[in-house]
Amino acid sequence: MNGVVLVLNQDYEPLNVTNLPRAFRLVFGAKAEILEYDHQVIRTVSREFHAPSVIRLQHRVHRPRPRVKLTRREVFARDRHTCQYCGRVANDLTLDHILPRHRGGSHTWDNLVAACKPCNHRKGGKTPEEARVRLLRPPFEPRSDLYSLFTPYLADERNEAWRNYLFLGRN
Ligand SMILES: [Zn+2]
Repeated sequence: MNGVVLVLNQDYEPLNVTNLPRAFRLVFGAKAEILEYDHQVIRTVSREFHAPSVIRLQHRVHRPRPRVKLTRREVFARDRHTCQYCGRVANDLTLDHILPRHRGGSHTWDNLVAACKPCNHRKGGKTPEEARVRLLRPPFEPRSDLYSLFTPYLADERNEAWRNYLFLGRN
């Protein structure tokens, strides 16, 4: 049994992706209903089952907002590959701690920005005030794009039916 199954919350919001054995357990345990089948038929000694492709939970589960992992790449993406001090778009950006680490600055979304090498060098171990530089905008924790978790699966044509559910209500 291979293949993956899209799990929707009770309100049809895409929740996660699971494997067939887990999906069958949810369905047979009356915890989920099948909305779409894929073309696979699973045969056991006595029965055969059509494999689900999309299932929907019978009860709504509360899901905490997925968070974006704090990495260099994600900070650069949030800052649109633009130095947050001079506005230059550069492909050799560095990660700058706004309040330097040795001054107690944290390694967090709101203390990290993309900075070009000259700006990072000029700022050195100083605060923006001391270095007389200003940020283009206050840094923030980006929202995770829920749909980017699912779209890679659409490359597999067996998951074609997912499209009807992934883009519901999305503008
Ligand atoms: Zn710069």
